[in-house]
Amino acid sequence: MKSQRSDLAAVKRSGRVDSMPAAPVDYRIARNATVKAWKDKQLGRLEVCDAQRELRRNAEFCGAETDRDCPVCTVEGLVEVTYVFGPYLPKHGRCVTTRKEMQRLQQRRSVSTGYVVEVCLECGWNHLIRRYTMGGAKAG
Ligand SMILES: [Zn+2]
Repeated sequence: MKSQRSDLAAVKRSGRVDSMPAAPVDYRIARNATVKAWKDKQLGRLEVCDAQRELRRNAEFCGAETDRDCPVCTVEGLVEVTYVFGPYLPKHGRCVTTRKEMQRLQQRRSVSTGYVVEVCLECGWNHLIRRYTMGGAKAG
């Protein structure tokens, strides 16, 4: 079985994200590299804690709280926000808030892509965590 780690390596090698198969892509390695760059002072705090107002607002009102701590300010309870892009969805994506809405997207015939971003409401840390496709249900 192919691991998610090798999927990510394949993306990095080819540089062609859009032609990847529908397997979920885990961005933990990239995230950890960003955290390390901040700890090594290669990136400033403002560069890693740059959540924009819209993202913060979505995190606050429609995010799902996790049990993970912020890697920057160590506050508990990072929030995950899921944006879905695809046919019949707004160009800037839809912030999916409920399991029911997610299930509806899963059952569609058209394929959409979900992007999960973790956000710290305290300091503004944010990073893409994973990407996955949904939908593609067969007719009948
Ligand atoms: Zn934080």
